[in-house]
Amino acid sequence: MSNKLWDDRCRRCGRCCYEKIEHNGQVYYTDVPCLHLDLETTLCKIYSERHLLQPQCLPLTADMLHRGILPGDCPYVSEIVHYNAPELFVEEV
Ligand code: SF4
Repeated sequence: MSNKLWDDRCRRCGRCCYEKIEHNGQVYYTDVPCLHLDLETTLCKIYSERHLLQPQCLPLTADMLHRGILPGDCPYVSEIVHYNAPELFVEEV
């Protein structure tokens, strides 16, 4: 698949651009956005340089899809059977 076809699967919703926590093999989303995420457009403000300027932003490769970091209805993973989607992190008070 070409890079363009691969990138075109993204709907630019920005939901994968929130801080995550991994615990016992389960990924949890927090409500803390990446500092480079434009909350109005839901686009990355440094997209072309994101891997350089934000090393925690990992390239989205086919191998990454099974790590459970994308929301279950994201086009990259929505057809993966038994996909382990992230849960929302809820802080206990
Ligand atoms: S969750 Fe999926 S569709 Fe939304 S920005 Fe991330 S990769 Fe793109």
